[in-house]
Amino acid sequence: MNFAAAQSIKRGLLAAGHYRRALGRSRFPGVAVLGYHGLRDDDSPDGSMAFENLHVRASTFEAHCRVIRDTCDPITLDDWRAALLGTAPLPPRPVLVTFDDGYRSVFTIGAPILAAANLPAVVFACSDPMERRHLLWFDDVAAREGEAAVEPWKARDYGSWLTACATGTQAVADADPRAVMTVPELQALSRQRGIEIGAHTERHPILAHAAPAAQRAEIAGNRAALEAWTGRPVRAFAYPNGRPGVDYNGDTVTILRDLGFDFGFTMRPAFATADEPPLERSRFMVLAEILGPELAHRMAYTWPR
Ligand SMILES: [Zn+2]
Repeated sequence: MNFAAAQSIKRGLLAAGHYRRALGRSRFPGVAVLGYHGLRDDDSPDGSMAFENLHVRASTFEAHCRVIRDTCDPITLDDWRAALLGTAPLPPRPVLVTFDDGYRSVFTIGAPILAAANLPAVVFACSDPMERRHLLWFDDVAAREGEAAVEPWKARDYGSWLTACATGTQAVADADPRAVMTVPELQALSRQRGIEIGAHTERHPILAHAAPAAQRAEIAGNRAALEAWTGRPVRAFAYPNGRPGVDYNGDTVTILRDLGFDFGFTMRPAFATADEPPLERSRFMVLAEILGPELAHRMAYTWPR
């Protein structure tokens, strides 16, 4: 069966309530943590921004929110904390929505959709581009040299990446779809019901290529900025790039523990089960090409349990 035919069948199954019934009989083996990045308007033309598969269209995100609300049990990190303390068990199909990087579109497009669907979310934000009103380093490199030029920078050591790449990023206008939130926007988002702000380092380095002291400075400095701006404790962290054993190392986990973080999120695609380490939780990355019916299908059947 070709891709379009499969999509159309899944759309029909969703409309007929099939996934709601199938999921209604099931219990997830852990929390389905969804890892989003940015969002974009429905009318933004294809090919107009780098890494556009990381920026889910508004109508797709709305469809995701409906699927989550209708077929699963959205939770906050505080719900999860309460379950770990034994105060209240998690519901049968817990889903946690997360966003990495701190894109402004999460505030302008995502926050109203989340509020309308009454969905909680965690937003992991990088503080340095926010403070300087600059592009994130990978969006900057992609704009100047193309997407393919980004990957080699991820293999460089922290010092050379910092001087040659991360500190020379270009300014970005707030209206640009690649812009990160302003500080007042982050503050407003942090006050929306159900939203928690988490740490994601100051500049989004590949932590595995940094000495422990530099890793600690990136993480602690980010947390201090986010806490000062929002007036709230920052206790959860998402590893930049997120591949276990590749993008961070044992030192990173030790630093998080030392700094008192209670949740760390990777991009290992799996349900976050009770037996995995609290500072290395799994997440399913959600891309723009995953439409509403496809998300329902993956939750019901495809994701391994
Ligand atoms: Zn990131």
